[in-house]
Amino acid sequence: MILPFTEPFKIKMVENIYKSTREQRESWIKEASYNLFNLKSEQVFIDLLTDSGTGAMSDKQWSSMMVGDESYAGASSYYKLKDAINDITGFNYYLPTHQGRAAENVLFSVLVKEGDLVPGNSHFDTTKGHIEFRKAQAVDCTIDIAYDITAWHPFKGNVDITKLENVLKNNPADKISCIIVTITNNTGGGQPVSMENLREVGKLSKRYGVKFIIDSARFAENAYFIKTREEGYAEKDIREIVREMFSYADGMTMSSKKDAIVNMGGFIGFRDEELFRQASTFNIIYEGFITYGGMSGRDMNALAQGLYEGTEFDYLESRINQVACLGKKLKDYGIPILEPFGGHAIFIDAKKFLQEIPKEEFPAQTLAIELYIEGGLRGVEIGALMADRDPETRENRYPELEMVRLAIPRRVYTNNHMDYVAAVAGNVFERRNNIKRGVSIKWEAPLMRHFTVKLERK
Ligand SMILES: *Cc1c(COP(=O)(O)O)cnc(C)c1O
Repeated sequence: MILPFTEPFKIKMVENIYKSTREQRESWIKEASYNLFNLKSEQVFIDLLTDSGTGAMSDKQWSSMMVGDESYAGASSYYKLKDAINDITGFNYYLPTHQGRAAENVLFSVLVKEGDLVPGNSHFDTTKGHIEFRKAQAVDCTIDIAYDITAWHPFKGNVDITKLENVLKNNPADKISCIIVTITNNTGGGQPVSMENLREVGKLSKRYGVKFIIDSARFAENAYFIKTREEGYAEKDIREIVREMFSYADGMTMSSKKDAIVNMGGFIGFRDEELFRQASTFNIIYEGFITYGGMSGRDMNALAQGLYEGTEFDYLESRINQVACLGKKLKDYGIPILEPFGGHAIFIDAKKFLQEIPKEEFPAQTLAIELYIEGGLRGVEIGALMADRDPETRENRYPELEMVRLAIPRRVYTNNHMDYVAAVAGNVFERRNNIKRGVSIKWEAPLMRHFTVKLERK
C-alpha cells in the first residue's frame, strides 16, 4: 500500500483558539459593521483571511533568531541571508526590505517612470498600485483560458506570449519598464506558471532588451506545480527547479511572508550589479541601510532558514495537498468553487452559491458573513466591495466573479480544521435558500473601501 502523505513536522507549541457561540458571533459581527476586517482576531475561530505572514515558524527558525546579529552595518545575519538567497535563487546581489510592497517600491523607483508600460501576467494589487502611482500602466497579458473559471489548464497563470510580444513589438524598449511575471499568479487564483512559459518570456526579454522581473511570493509552490505537472520535471529536485525558474530573469521581488514562512520581511534579488547599485540609494531612503533595509538581524536569520524549509518537497506536498483536500471536501458538499485549486487558497463562487442575492447586495460579502456566523470562520470577499467604484463615474464596479477566498496559513491548521471549515460551508450551503437578503453600505472610504467599509443587513 502507498502510504498517505502527511505533514513532515510535529507540533511543539500550541496556541489555543476559542470556539465562540453563534449568539456571540451574531453580536460581534454586528458590532464590526458586518466587515470581517473589523473583527478582533480572538473573535475568529479559524482564520483564513490570508496566508500572508500568518505561517508558523519552525524550532530552527526560532533558534536562529537568538543568534541574530543586530549590527547596523555588515551584520553576519545579512551575509547569512545573502548566501541563502544566492544558493536558492542564483541571484548574486540582494537588498532586504520590510515586506514585498517595499521591495516593489524600491525597485520601481529605478525602473518605472511616467508613461511606461509594465506587461506581465495579472499584477498583484500592490504591484499595480506602485505602477499606477508612478503614472505608468500595468498591461495584463495572461492567457485567455485563465478567465474561464471551470476550464482545466495545468498552468493557468501563464503569460500569453503573443500578447506579450505585441506589447514589446509595438512600443519602444525605453517605454517598457520591465516585464513582471507573478508566480504563482495570485490575482488569478494562485495558478502556476510553467517553466516553458518562463523560458519563453526570458527569450523575449533578451530579444527586446527589456528586463524580466519575477514577483516571487509563492515561487516554491510554483516549483511544486512544475515538478508535478510539467513534462520533464518529475525527477528534478524542487531547488533545481527554483534555480532554473530564476535563471531566466534579471531580478526578483519577494514578499517573504508567503513561501519563506516568516511573519514579516521581503527582499529584492538582482543579477546585475548596476541595477543593485541604483536601487541601493532608494533602499537607504525608504527602508534602511543596505545590510538591513527594514529587517532586524534576527528576522534575516529566520528568513534565511525559512527559504530552505519552504523549498522542501515534503513540506510543499503536504501544504498543497491540504489546500486541495479542502477543495475536494467543499466539492463533495456540492459547493461551487474555482478549479483547478490554487496553491494557497480555495475560492468559493458566491454568485452560484447565493443565487437569490442581487449583485447590488454583495453576495460574496454576504456569504463571508454567513460563514463567520455559522462557525467562526473568517475568509475574505473578492468581489464588488473590493472592486470599489469607478474613479471617474463613482459607480460601483461589478466584477465578473464574486468570490470568497479561503487562504490557508502555512503549517498552522490541521486537516481536522479543514474538515471543520468544509462542514461550516456545507451547513451554510444547506440553508442557502433561506438567505434572501444581502448587505448595503452605510459608510465607505473614498479608496480601498473594503478594509474599512461599514455595512448593514438588508
Ligand atoms: C503579498 C504579495 C505582494 C506584496 O507583499 P507584502 O509583503 O504583502 O507587502 C506582492 N506580490 C504578490 C504576488 C503577493 O502575493
